[in-house]
Amino acid sequence: MDFSPLSGNPPHVKHELVVRVFLSPFRVEHVETPEHGEQPNYKDGIIPGHFKEHEIHYILGLLEEYHKDSNNNRLQKWPDSKWIQFRSILKLKVEQIWNVLWARPSEGMENVWMRYLAATKGYKSNVVPSLKLDLNLKLVNLPSEADVRILCLNTTTRFRSRMSLSWVQGGSFGILDWYDIYTYEYEGNIINCDAAHEFGHYLGFSHVAANIEGNPYPAIGAKPGDTEEYGITEHQRGNVMGMGTRVEPWNAAPWLNHIYRHFSGPEKPKFVAYVQNHH
Ligand SMILES: [Zn+2]
Repeated sequence: MDFSPLSGNPPHVKHELVVRVFLSPFRVEHVETPEHGEQPNYKDGIIPGHFKEHEIHYILGLLEEYHKDSNNNRLQKWPDSKWIQFRSILKLKVEQIWNVLWARPSEGMENVWMRYLAATKGYKSNVVPSLKLDLNLKLVNLPSEADVRILCLNTTTRFRSRMSLSWVQGGSFGILDWYDIYTYEYEGNIINCDAAHEFGHYLGFSHVAANIEGNPYPAIGAKPGDTEEYGITEHQRGNVMGMGTRVEPWNAAPWLNHIYRHFSGPEKPKFVAYVQNHH
């Protein structure tokens, strides 16, 4: 049977990476209006129990920095409808951007993969299925149920959002603002959906050209935080871990690094990733 995974809709098995996400709204209605130059009481905007003490300490530092930066930088109350919209668009956009990855068995491993399928599912076919690699953001109702807890800000200007597994030991949390689900322009570059980029950090990626092992375009000599990290060439900057939304086969690493765990025995099928956009 002539079968190309790049054409048509191949039969596939879904390999889904589920991230349980708890979104915590910043309760700005509890923040007293400061006198001119006075520091607002940001701590009251953070709902007790949603974040740990050391996380709150870190968050407050960022909020104070934001407040000091410009007179236009303000936190606003989340109107109910805007909050509901933010939650659904966040999930929709991030999944839409990331869910273009597929994996197929590497050359010569097709039979190994089929043997495993036949052993577990009684599946017999000449068609070698591909794996659809999906990211599923499962919005949960309790912080205790979450893999990642995110403080969500309804700001008047862009906040410098961040999210990572490692920037605070033992915790997994992030900060996003309303603008992160939309497209905007920054220094002549079109930036699409920072939230997708931030979830890339959560998946373990550093910036596209960060000088670390395993990165496809390490910018030798660039220091952490340098703009070079976001890509030197236009192509690099277009990646989701640069300033764009393009997901490439190397972005399949979190899935590919995991697949082998589903197989036992001496022969483990190897997979290569490819990209196919939704139709
Ligand atoms: Zn980043």
